[in-house]
Amino acid sequence: MKSLFTLRFDLQRVVGGVEDSTRDVLMVFVACSDLDPEAFASIIEAEIDTSLVPDEVAIIVREPSFDTTMKQFNTHSLHSSTLGRLSKSAIILIGYDCNGAESRRKCIAGIMPSHAMTIDDVRRRGITYIFNERRGFVEANATYHFENPSGRHTERFIRLSNILACGAEIAFIGFCCLPHIAPTVTKAYLDTPSLYAVVAAMNEQRRSFEGAGWILADNFSSYVGFDQYEFDSGKAAVVLISASSSGSLATRLVTEKSVEAQQVVHLLYLGRKPITTPVVCDLLKDDETNPAGITTLPLVNEAENCSMCMSGSHAIKLQGDQFEFAGPQQDALLVGLADAPKGLLQLMGRYACDQVFEIGLGSSGLKTPRLFNINVTNLLASKAFEEKLAYAIRQSVPASLSQIIAADEQSLPLAAHVAAQCAKHVSVVARDQIDTIPNDTTDAIFIVASVIESGRTLLDISRDLRSIAPAAPLIYLVGMAKTTGEPKREQLNKSLVQTHNFFPYELVTVDQIVLPASYDDHSWVAELQLLIDPDIQDLIPSELEQVVQLRIDRLRLRSQPMGDDLFLPNAGVPLRLQPGFVFWPSSLPAKVGHQQADVYFTIASVLQRLRANAFELSGKRRIVSNWFQQTILAPGNFGRFNDDVIQASLLRATYPYELNFADTTDESYELGRLLRRVIAACESSRGGAASEFLIALASRRLQLCRKDIEQVLAIKTPDVPMVRFLLETCRRRLL
Ligand SMILES: [Zn+2]
Repeated sequence: MKSLFTLRFDLQRVVGGVEDSTRDVLMVFVACSDLDPEAFASIIEAEIDTSLVPDEVAIIVREPSFDTTMKQFNTHSLHSSTLGRLSKSAIILIGYDCNGAESRRKCIAGIMPSHAMTIDDVRRRGITYIFNERRGFVEANATYHFENPSGRHTERFIRLSNILACGAEIAFIGFCCLPHIAPTVTKAYLDTPSLYAVVAAMNEQRRSFEGAGWILADNFSSYVGFDQYEFDSGKAAVVLISASSSGSLATRLVTEKSVEAQQVVHLLYLGRKPITTPVVCDLLKDDETNPAGITTLPLVNEAENCSMCMSGSHAIKLQGDQFEFAGPQQDALLVGLADAPKGLLQLMGRYACDQVFEIGLGSSGLKTPRLFNINVTNLLASKAFEEKLAYAIRQSVPASLSQIIAADEQSLPLAAHVAAQCAKHVSVVARDQIDTIPNDTTDAIFIVASVIESGRTLLDISRDLRSIAPAAPLIYLVGMAKTTGEPKREQLNKSLVQTHNFFPYELVTVDQIVLPASYDDHSWVAELQLLIDPDIQDLIPSELEQVVQLRIDRLRLRSQPMGDDLFLPNAGVPLRLQPGFVFWPSSLPAKVGHQQADVYFTIASVLQRLRANAFELSGKRRIVSNWFQQTILAPGNFGRFNDDVIQASLLRATYPYELNFADTTDESYELGRLLRRVIAACESSRGGAASEFLIALASRRLQLCRKDIEQVLAIKTPDVPMVRFLLETCRRRLL
């Protein structure tokens, strides 16, 4: 165990207005009752090895051990060899009393310097040293900063427990507290439990002195516990505050709890203005008394005017007396037109009536279509696509084109279409045939992919072609690019066009849409699991048996993507879009041919754009999901978008944590009320999404506070069998 705390520093005094010469001082604080000669020998050896022999060595011991320590220096053989190594130094023994003040001093070796080190020289320096070494600040970085329990924002804060790491150091901190805590004090109120260690260190030292009482300590939990706590304002009690920058807690103790100012002791203080209550260590730099102190105070901003928030950094809430990070903070977001990805409105105008967008029910690793499926056949058949493609071909097909590689099987028709537009014969090469391309070709090569998601296939082909056809100009043609965000797309573009040849390769994308990557645990999987649950199957009324079975069969039909059968209707009428969908051209909803999947894709695209914004330091509106923050969808969205088909799309395109209102009472209440209105109106189009809401609730993709769930489920059951059945389902699952 380490029984000594040492501090090496330069000491310079101003005597009669004149600075005397700087002396190199080693302070050795003896943390236990006796100085161990071996421990002393080894620290002196280490000091001399790294920083030469000091001018002055000051050993601080408890007064009751002063004489025995002095005697041991004269008799112990290990001490005499240690003193031999320190032959050039003045070695001083200092004793301290139970007030932490010097009781006496003697020179062990050398000559006593005229202005030698005193205990007053080392308290502030010593604790500042420990603070710096142990990194007493918890610091922010570019992505996050902190919100104090007071509501203000800061880039760093002091956490006392960081610096309470080593027994000898804690003993030294306890020793430094002694002057402010009279021997008659027997009670200490602590603002944080970390201070128990400091009180234990004080008690251990006071035990060596006669007449000093034992301090009983209790944590009042800082501001959190302030109001409820009863403080004893007598002289036998002190309040110990771990750290402060303003003394505001001390002021409240004095004014609200009638504690004497002298009985409120700050262990650490770092503020612009000095305070009137006692401070053990002022961490601020002072050229003379604390040269290693802190020079810049933590930046503290009012929340509504915080420069860190404005530059895109998250504010993490600190809570409790230990300044723990609070769990994720939930902010509710109302989605609006400005949140749509660029060009979404035009894109939907081009394709919404062409059955291009479909929901696949296959999972990863299977050959079946996945969640965000683009119907390639319908895309190629689309007039709007054909026009854009024709332009791209006119612009990008070079005279020397001789080969077209189809990136995968579903790209063969597009590759054949491009080949057919060329004036001369161009051969279409399948992905697994690219070795047949002549090695020395200098002719241009087209690489065609009808749909890409990550672009991995194109990157693989580009790598292969570097050795197969190094001199050939390459042009990548993509029919529809699905991308999770702009940076991802730019990165793909950069990687593909890069070459040692004269000019960069080219990437031509006919159209693109921002979408999440397809995932497996989507709402239709949750719905299927719900409907086939034996517990729930019991509840199906006979009149619905056939309808439910058809729905189960549909959800199990993975080979067949869904277009207009995404949502479960309350009765026979499918969910439908009304005129005036803000993300679509105004004429579109009235046109024939658009499907539920088109609305779902639109909503999924807007949400994905908002999620992608979270990774850009732009201050844009965003959906954030990380350890510290979670954006939830404001219940107002379901009022703003009151078409049943949009409501259902929102319910199914959000991730469950974006619809988790279990911890947000206001939002939960608001959504609960809305849900009751929707259920009550389930026979009209205003309540068209009632079944969809109930499925989301039953499968826990939508979560409300318990009391709001109870209220929703207490509603008078309407005379619509599906809604009745799903209400029963929710009651069985959630109550
Ligand atoms: Zn801030």
